[in-house]
Amino acid sequence: MQTRTLGRTGLTVGVIGLGTEYLLDVPRGTVVSVVRQAVAAGVNYFDVLFAQPHYLDNLGAAFQGLREKILITGHLGSAVQDGQYRRSRDVRECEELFHDLLRRLGTEYVDVAFLSNCDEQADYERVMGPGGLGELAVRLQREGQARFIGLSGHQVPVASKAVASGVVDVLMHSLNLSGDATPGRKQLYHACAAQGVGLIAMKPFAGGSLLQNGTAVPPTPVQCLSYALSQPAVATVVPGVKDPSELEAALAYLDASEQERDFSAVVGRFQRDTQGRCVYCNHCLPCPAGIDVGKTIRLSDSARHGVSAALAEEYAALPAGASACLECGDCMERCPFQVDVISKMRQAARVFERNASRPL
Ligand code: SF4
Ligand code: SF4
Repeated sequence: MQTRTLGRTGLTVGVIGLGTEYLLDVPRGTVVSVVRQAVAAGVNYFDVLFAQPHYLDNLGAAFQGLREKILITGHLGSAVQDGQYRRSRDVRECEELFHDLLRRLGTEYVDVAFLSNCDEQADYERVMGPGGLGELAVRLQREGQARFIGLSGHQVPVASKAVASGVVDVLMHSLNLSGDATPGRKQLYHACAAQGVGLIAMKPFAGGSLLQNGTAVPPTPVQCLSYALSQPAVATVVPGVKDPSELEAALAYLDASEQERDFSAVVGRFQRDTQGRCVYCNHCLPCPAGIDVGKTIRLSDSARHGVSAALAEEYAALPAGASACLECGDCMERCPFQVDVISKMRQAARVFERNASRPL
């Protein structure tokens, strides 16, 4: 399993994690099989969304003996009513449910406590305001019951505020080929990268709709996962699966060839304004100077919001700096999106190398 660092938490996560929402109503044996198969493949990040007792008990059985090997999240704000999911902002109720989650999962802490499903401005203010769930999360962190604080949601304005707040270490956000056409999404991901907020990509298949894309040839699960993992700040992607065969389809990413991971042929179908804009697909390689073109442009784009230590470190670890560009233009002939790579390389060199040891 390839691993990445989850932003400023410093946690190491496998690039494929697991969303467990589709395990809500499946038999315990299946839940145990899916979790064990995932761990055997190197998955170490498990998002635990719901508060339903049977779901937590099943996951608790599946996690038995694995706690030291895996990262577990919990969601503050996920409650139950008549057996169904209900969003709650009642602090006392959420604290009780959080302790129930710990007990049923057989653990004393979660690695990330998410302020769950927060999308509207008024709700964000309530959650982060005095006496809100944000205060509960901070207290749980102080008491050692939550290592880090996250926020999960789907809307750019609220997520952007959370990223800028300094309170939230991790953002779990819907991120997929079709949703990324929405204005502001890319800036949000770059802001996460610049602020050191670890990004968890959820809904990589847009709830499955991407895989049934009408009459056109739909993208493969591997292409969807590859796209999510190519975006700024993304540390892991958490596909939801309901059985071992769906898990296998997601894990196929790990053994897929570069050709199978290449999403450049499908991205234009979902994002109309891709011309001239780099989607970090690396379809333009090889580069005679050994430059990782997609990653270099991604880091440079993220640095528009400021060059954080993490961005500088990632740039320094690249096999070749942008200043090594020979301006041969080979990559530009191969780029399906007419990106002016030479200008991008000049810009990256200006941003990252002006005061660094690498010569311009
Ligand atoms: S320059 Fe073009 S081909 Fe290269 S990574 Fe960017 S979008 Fe992909
Ligand atoms: S133009 Fe620069 S980045 Fe592109 S292939 Fe040539 S040397 Fe590499």
